[in-house]
Amino acid sequence: MVELIQKLYDTGNLSDEELKTLIADENEDTAAYLASRADEIRRKYYGNKVFLRGLIEISSYCKNDCFYCGIRRSCKSAERYRLDRQQILDCAEIGYKLGLRTFVMQGGEDAFFNDDFMCGIISQLRTKYPDCAITLSLGERSLESYEKMKGAGADRYLLRHETASEELYKKIHPEEMRLDNRIKCLYNLKRTGYQTGSGFMVGVPNQTIDHIIEDIRFLQELQPQMIGIGPFIPHWDTPFRNEKGGTLELTLRLLGILRLMFPKVLLPATTALGSISENGRILGLKTGCNVIMPNISPEDARKKYNLYDNKLISGSETAEGISLLRQEIEAAGYTVADERGDYVN
Ligand code: SAH
Repeated sequence: MVELIQKLYDTGNLSDEELKTLIADENEDTAAYLASRADEIRRKYYGNKVFLRGLIEISSYCKNDCFYCGIRRSCKSAERYRLDRQQILDCAEIGYKLGLRTFVMQGGEDAFFNDDFMCGIISQLRTKYPDCAITLSLGERSLESYEKMKGAGADRYLLRHETASEELYKKIHPEEMRLDNRIKCLYNLKRTGYQTGSGFMVGVPNQTIDHIIEDIRFLQELQPQMIGIGPFIPHWDTPFRNEKGGTLELTLRLLGILRLMFPKVLLPATTALGSISENGRILGLKTGCNVIMPNISPEDARKKYNLYDNKLISGSETAEGISLLRQEIEAAGYTVADERGDYVN
C-alpha cells in the first residue's frame, strides 16, 4: 500500500483499480501512513493553519424530500423555524467577537429566503464585516439568483453533489429531484465566480466503492475549492432510519485520499465526523483536513436543525466553547488562523 500512497502523493492520481484497493484497505498501518502523507502535503500549502467557519443555520423549512435528511419536508417530527434578520446579525456579531472571519448561512430550501431577503442580509454583513468571507449553503437556485447574491457580496457557496451516480442518486432522492440540475448548479456557481464547495456522504445506503470512485472522478472534473464529506448518519424519522451509518475509518481514508488528490483544497473536518466519534474532527485534521465549522446558531435553532441523530451541538458558540476548540486544535499540533482562509491559488 505504501507504493500506492507514494504514487498518489507524487502524481495526485490513481487508476480506478488502484483507488479501489486503497479505499478498501482496512489496515491500520495504511491509515496511519496515509494520514501522515496527507498531513505532509497539507502543511506544504497551509502550514499548520486551521480555519474556522461560523455556521449559522438559518432555516429548518425545506421543500425537498431527500430520504436521508431529518429536515425533509415529509418529516413530521421536525420542528420548523427560521431566523430573522436580526437573529442572523446577532449570530455574526457573536462569531466575529470570537475571532471567526467566515460566516456560513446554511438552510433547507425555504422560499422565505428569496433573493431580496438574501441580498439584503448579505450586503449588511458585507458592509459591517469587510474583513470576513460570506458563504452560502442554500441548495439549488437559479443562475440569476446565484449572480445576484454574488453581486451583493457573497464569496463562497457549498452545495454537495451528494452522489455522482445517477443510479444511486435516484435511490436516495424522490423522483422530482434531478442529479443533472444539481450538477448544473455547481457549474453555474463556479462560473459566477464563487469559491465553490461540493462533496458527498460516506456510507449512504446502497453506496459501493464504485460509487465513491465516481464521486472522486466528478470532483476531479469540477475542481471545487472546497470539498465536504462526512459519514451518513441515520435519522430516526426518515426512510433510512434502520440503515447503517458511514464509518469513521472509511471517512478518514477518503479524507486522506482527497487531500493527496487536491493538495490545496479547503477540506473541513465536518460536524458529522465529530458526531460519530468524540475525537473525529481532530482525527480529520490529522488526515489532511484544514477547516472546522463551529456552530454559531442560537441554541434553539441548533437543536431543531436536526439533519441526523445525535448531532454534535455542543456550545462552541460561546467564548468558552471556542477556546476549548482552539486548545484541542493546538494540542493536535495545529493553530487556529483568525483569517478568512481563502483558497490559495
Ligand atoms: N439545503 C442545503 C443544505 C443541506 S444540509 C443543500 O441542499 O445543500 C448540508 C448537508 O448535510 C447535505 O448536503 C448532506 O450531505 C448532509 N446531510 C443531510 N442529511 C444527512 C445525514 N442523515 N447524515 C449525514 N449528513 C447528512
